[in-house]
Amino acid sequence: MTIGTALLFSGPSGVGKSTVCGLLMKKCPSLQFSVSCTTRAPRPGEIDDKDYHFLAIDEFIRRKEAGEFLECAEVHGNWYGTLRSEVTPRIQNGQDILLDIDVQGMRQARAVLQNDTLLAASLLTVFIAPPSRAELERRLRGRGTETEESIQRRLANSMQELQAWREYDYVVINDVAETAADELFAILAAARCRTSVTPKLEAEK
Ligand code: 5GP
Repeated sequence: MTIGTALLFSGPSGVGKSTVCGLLMKKCPSLQFSVSCTTRAPRPGEIDDKDYHFLAIDEFIRRKEAGEFLECAEVHGNWYGTLRSEVTPRIQNGQDILLDIDVQGMRQARAVLQNDTLLAASLLTVFIAPPSRAELERRLRGRGTETEESIQRRLANSMQELQAWREYDYVVINDVAETAADELFAILAAARCRTSVTPKLEAEK
């Protein structure tokens, strides 16, 4: 059986990751979103256990110490983490998953997965970049969900995150969300055909 692909994407806050990710999941209904844990408060409209597992800080630390996270990082003043249970069993079962993780988390996840021959082959990393710095700020403000302090912190972090784009396998510029989703779809389709994720051909058996 072909192992699943872990499509890990990062990008600065406000770049439109959730929009692009929503469009990609419509094009590709078998793709499952890896629901992360966070200590941040839910935004209006966000649903617990669908958008995130919203946890109190004590609970997050307990899970971290119990080794439940594949990776975790403090981002914009809150903790975020990917549960191993969201990733490893699914990839082994041939399921494709989508992970929204920041740059620090990508580095950790890559280091962990590279220790496992099977899982290393499953990882595909994509950086979602804004068309310009001014457009990123416009989108972040337009969202209307952040305080001025949070906007300033997210913008400063974004400029740092942008420096890391060359560490990823692919870069997609989110100018028009539909086009960005099409590009991600093409990347995923190509990844599924990699010889490294296909242990044996039916025709060989
Ligand atoms: P937001 O608060 O806007 O939903 O997310 C803030 C940042 O946290 C984004 O850059 C997002 O990629 C990152 N993030 C979301 N989930 C995870 C996770 O499980 N691990 C890490 N390291 N970062 C995450």
